[in-house]
Order: sequence, then structure tokens, then C-alpha cells
Amino acid sequence: MVSESRARCSQANHGCPPCSANLCTPSLCSGLSRLLTGQLCAKELFQRYGVSQRLYDEFLKPLLLVGLFAPPEQISAASMLETFYFYTLAHQADFDVCWCKGSVSELIFKPLVDLIQGLGGRIQGGRLASDLDVNPETGRVQGVIARSRDGSETTYPADAVIFAVGITGMQKLIGASPTLAARPEFRRIMTLQGLDVMATRLWFDRRVETRFPSNVLSGFEETTGGTFFNLNQLQDEYKDVAEGVIAADFYHSNELMALSDEEIVQKVHDTLKICEPGFRDAKVVDSAVLRFSKAVTHFNPGSLQGRPRQWTSFGNVFMAGDWVKDVNHGAKGLSQERAFVTGLTAANLVVKHLGCGEPAKLLDTEPDEPHIALGKELNKRLQSTLSLFGANSLGL
Ligand SMILES: Cc1cc2nc3c(=O)[nH]c(=O)nc-3n(C[C@H](O)[C@H](O)[C@H](O)COP(=O)(O)OP(=O)(O)OC[C@H]3O[C@@H](n4cnc5c(N)ncnc54)[C@H](O)[C@@H]3O)c2cc1C
Repeated sequence: MVSESRARCSQANHGCPPCSANLCTPSLCSGLSRLLTGQLCAKELFQRYGVSQRLYDEFLKPLLLVGLFAPPEQISAASMLETFYFYTLAHQADFDVCWCKGSVSELIFKPLVDLIQGLGGRIQGGRLASDLDVNPETGRVQGVIARSRDGSETTYPADAVIFAVGITGMQKLIGASPTLAARPEFRRIMTLQGLDVMATRLWFDRRVETRFPSNVLSGFEETTGGTFFNLNQLQDEYKDVAEGVIAADFYHSNELMALSDEEIVQKVHDTLKICEPGFRDAKVVDSAVLRFSKAVTHFNPGSLQGRPRQWTSFGNVFMAGDWVKDVNHGAKGLSQERAFVTGLTAANLVVKHLGCGEPAKLLDTEPDEPHIALGKELNKRLQSTLSLFGANSLGL
């Protein structure tokens, strides 16, 4: 354990954005209020609980960089708590990496597309939604305007619309659409941020056995997290090939985005050499580097206010994606599961709104493991006892 003064940094440098002037009443600025309103950053919460520097540096910071794709001072403490709870605490045995045993497009997207088309749906690729067509008399949305690659626009009639385009996609739409910009809930989306992510794949002249099929890359860049996956061990496709195939993803990769592909590949190889000595003699024979600028949700302190709910003031426009808030389901944080759940929920809202169609059945997450359920119950009782004396054990 390090000394308290080292483990806790001052309020001045923990990195949370300051409360905005209109929020900064004495009562709201208490830690608990800032936690509940999403203003408190994860780093400050760790410090308030006296988390040791070693636990912070070697476990919590790397875990947040790969779980919510940003360092703790840039993550809302509330989002951190719900994500850790969803990913690890409630079902510890499920905290693992799973890889699709084959191509995602063949095994997941193609069957989904076939199902939609089999039910009479049409999928229009190669164009971007650019605006909504609103009936001037009723104020209801009656169509979606989409722009093709050649710049031509087509209006598709619609009884209801679901936006599932991520934060950055939505911001581009709002920026170009006076119809959307006129509504406060859409203007607030402009305060949100997307995070940079990079995905790399390296082919080596030989296979390298690693201690674990996947692992977290920590401490190589101050604010960038990473993971590597040994695809020879994880995917059937590469199980019996002679060359080594490694995928490495980098989250909050802002600092790396400007480097050339060659520099990034060299960096990944150098990092692997440090983690697994077997890579020292291996030579890179092929590589791929993909950059995703502002592509994933940033659950930063203060973002709760800007995140939309699933329904909007249009009445027949709905929102889906891992970034929408107030979703009554156990899937939390930056996750495909949450994106999927919000998609089904939005579809059910459309079914309800139009009064036709069969709602999708939503499966909830499994109940808490018994020791977590017991801990929660005990904590609830302790809290209610303490509140009788006007105290709270959170120390916030
Ligand atoms: C490298 C990486 C690794 C990840 N690993 C995991 C993991 O292991 N487990 C996990 O659960 N999650 C993981 N995630 C997160 C997961 O991918 C996201 O949570 C999920 O994709 C969010 O889904 P979404 O539908 O909200 O948004 P997105 O998947 O971002 O989809 C939005 C789509 O809308 C499109 N679009 C944007 N604008 C328009 C427009 N105007 N018109 C039409 N289309 C538009 C975009 O092109 C995009 O295809 C990972 C993400 C990355 C980048």
C-alpha cells in the first residue's frame, strides 16, 4: 500500500470537469449528488475510497481502458459502477472473452439479413440518412431522407423511425438538419463525445504460443488501453495454419491515430515482444490497421445530461444504441448486448405506437450470484439504518 497522500491526488488535478455554474449549488456539489448525476469521475471515486496506487495502476485503470475505452479521470463514476457490475461483479464466472467461431458477417449478419428479407423487409445499403421529412401540419415525421454516394437524395416514407447510428453519426445528422436541431433533446446530443479506436492484425512467419489466448496490454501508453488476441488459439480458421495470427485492439487510441501503419505495426510488435518473448524472433509478414475515429460511446463525466432516452418529442421517432439512457434492463455500459437490447426495445416502442405487430421478447440478464445478492441486501439494510441517524456510509 502506498501512503495516503500518494494514493489520493488533490481535487485540483483529478481531471473531472468542474460542475457547471448552474449546477454548483452546495447540496448538488456533494459527492453523492455528483455521482448520481453522472458528474463524478471514476478516478475521484477510487480516491475517495482510498484505493491504493498499485490497485489503481495495475488493475482498475487498465480494466477501465479496455472496458469503457477511456482512462478513469475521463469516465463517469456511475457508468463505471454499472459496467463493472454488469461485466464482472454480478456474474463473475461469465467475465471472459468470447470470439465468434467463424466470420461474424456469415454467422450473424447474413442470417439476420435473410430473416429481415424473408419477412418482407428491404435493406438499403450505400446511402446515409441525412434528414427527416416532417409533415408541416401535424409535426409528425412522415419520411427519412437519405443521400446516395453520388449526392442524390431520396425520401423514404415512414410511419415511424428508429435512429441507431451512434453518437458521431447522430451529431452529423443534427448538424445538417434544422428539423433535428430545433429540438432541445437533439441539440444536447451535440455535447457528447465519441472515442477513437484502432484494430490491428499481424501475421507472423511462425506461430507463437502465448501464456493466455488473450490479454490486456497495460502501461504502454498513458491514456490508451489495448488487448491482444492469439487467433491461432481462438479461431478455428487459424488453428492449423503455419503462420502466427495476432489481433490487437487499442482503445482511446487518439495519440496513435496520426502514426503511419508501419509505425503502428512496429509498435504492436515491440509491445508483444515485451509481453511474450516468443515474438522477439518472429517476423511480421503481413498486417492490417483499421482506424475508427470517434466511433464508440464515451461515457465521460457530464455525458448523462446529453444522452437521449429511447423516445423523442416527435412521438414517432425512437433511439437505439449503447449510449441511450434510462434503459430498464441489466445490460450496461459500452456493449453490443446493450445496443441489441435497445434496438429490440425501440422496435417494441414502434409496435406499441402503431398498434400493430408482434413485440420482441426481451430476456433479462441472469439474477445476481447469491453472495452478491446477499451483499446488496445487507448494504441496503445498513444504509437504511444509517439514514435514521442522518449519515451515509458511502463517505460521499
Ligand atoms: C474495436 C472494438 C472492440 C469492441 N469490443 C466489444 C466487445 O468485446 N464486446 C462488446 O459488447 N462490445 C464491444 N465493442 C463495442 C460495441 O461494438 C458497441 O457497443 C456497439 O457496436 C454499439 O452499437 P450501436 O448500434 O450503438 O452503434 P454502432 O455499432 O456504432 O452502429 C452505428 C452504425 O450506424 C452507421 N451510421 C452512422 N451514421 C449513419 C447515417 N447517417 N445513416 C446511416 N447509417 C449511419 C454507422 O456506420 C454504424 O454502422 C467494441 C467496439 C470496438 C470498436
